Amino acid sequence: MPFTLPLALTACAAKAPQSSRTADAKPTATAATTASAARPSLPLAGRTVVVDPGHNPGNFRHTKEINKKVDIGTNRKECDTTGTSTNAGYTEAAFTLDVSHRLRDLLEKRGAKVVLVHDADRPYGPCIDERARIGNTAGADAVVSVHADGSAVGNRGFHVILPARVRGGGADTAKIVEPSRTLGGKLADAFARATGSRPANYLGGGTGLDVRDDLGGLNLSTVPKVFLECGNMRDPKDAALLTDPAWRQKAAQGIADGIGAYLEG
Ligand code: ZN
Repeated sequence: MPFTLPLALTACAAKAPQSSRTADAKPTATAATTASAARPSLPLAGRTVVVDPGHNPGNFRHTKEINKKVDIGTNRKECDTTGTSTNAGYTEAAFTLDVSHRLRDLLEKRGAKVVLVHDADRPYGPCIDERARIGNTAGADAVVSVHADGSAVGNRGFHVILPARVRGGGADTAKIVEPSRTLGGKLADAFARATGSRPANYLGGGTGLDVRDDLGGLNLSTVPKVFLECGNMRDPKDAALLTDPAWRQKAAQGIADGIGAYLEG
């Protein structure tokens, strides 16, 4: 079951709003040259990043459980979905878990505390409302939900999904819309740089950014959060990338760079 529908395209997110801070990559480099050479640089020390591997490899065996609806504030929606796969059967859930492991390792090397929403250590899920709660409870500085899309052949490239402004029931994204947009913009830039992939050619108007109001994982988040669709598993050219471990390492690198750029300002 493909994960997304190319719904409401918005042209609003092309330019992630910049903070008032000025370019500040230099101090780290300067400090690094003066600090002890043996001391690793830990630019993300003290920061918490929650990494959400989309779906779960066990979801296929638990369709009854994952189809149960949960409250996402604005609506009720399935607990979780199976995710998509390549035509050859490499599943999105296997992909998201692999990229998430690589991403965790890269972020930990930079000093971040990393929480994985799941590690295939449960039979299915977690449900989307719990995925959001895990980020909230961790007090995450940033949350990235890793996915790959299941769209038509010829639809290629990556996109970041940003939370729309929604309010209803337990959902209120007012406080996270702007920081999430900043996070998403940095993520899109860094992902393109690291992987050489282009923004999706089938939604987002070439920006690599989309905004959605129907995802429980975003609607219920109280901390900056985005989804990343790394490519289209149903397109053979994108699938060739997504199934390549070397490319997945580049993908993880791009995500880590984007999170780093966001957290380091
Ligand atoms: Zn997905």
